[in-house]
Amino acid sequence: MTEPESIMVVTPHPDDSESAAGGTIAKWCAEGKKVILVVCTNGDKGTSDRSVKPADLAKLREKETLEAARVYGLAGVEFLRFPDQALEDTDEFRERIVWAIRKHKPDLLMCIDPGRPYIRHRDHYYSGRVTLDAVFPYSRDHLAFPEHLEGGLEPHKIEEIWLFRPQEPNTYVDVTDYFETRQNALHSHFSQVGPRSEERDERSRKRLSETGEKQGMELAESFMKIEMFR
Ligand SMILES: [Zn+2]
Repeated sequence: MTEPESIMVVTPHPDDSESAAGGTIAKWCAEGKKVILVVCTNGDKGTSDRSVKPADLAKLREKETLEAARVYGLAGVEFLRFPDQALEDTDEFRERIVWAIRKHKPDLLMCIDPGRPYIRHRDHYYSGRVTLDAVFPYSRDHLAFPEHLEGGLEPHKIEEIWLFRPQEPNTYVDVTDYFETRQNALHSHFSQVGPRSEERDERSRKRLSETGEKQGMELAESFMKIEMFR
């Protein structure tokens, strides 16, 4: 395929994309690619503070996500606003992902690898699983969610899928030059990760350098790439 210009990143919770793929998203944005973020849940259970109301947390997390979007220079964010810890493999969820794909028509779609076998967050599993189903065959077929056609949304074929937090990585991105932006985007999610600090930077750097080590890259993120419809 030609170099993808239009990219969609589907994240289960507002901060998962930053922690797993923030350097790569920053790189794509810096290269002028159009990157749309789709946030599946509102993250309203993501706190250990008993004084925080879920509705207030959900609002705060949207603000934090929009700040991360500004840091990267994203082309847009779609908030699907499903409750935290409540994603399921439903028609409603699948339809929302198909809708986002048909609306933005990305060449490349990135989502979380649903394949982790035992300990996994249900939202991560369903976000990955339902998104992959939405890519194929639902987004492609005009008789899947035909109401979209009435709204002017045509079927769409994705050319390439990238899975973050991959079980079997086969693609590595050198993110050395994008570390600053990655860290700033990650720490936009202040309610989840707190303020940026030398210690946090060091931890992130260590993880990214372990990934990069065998690839001859200083700092890297890993993915599983799947090419579609060849
Ligand atoms: Zn998550």
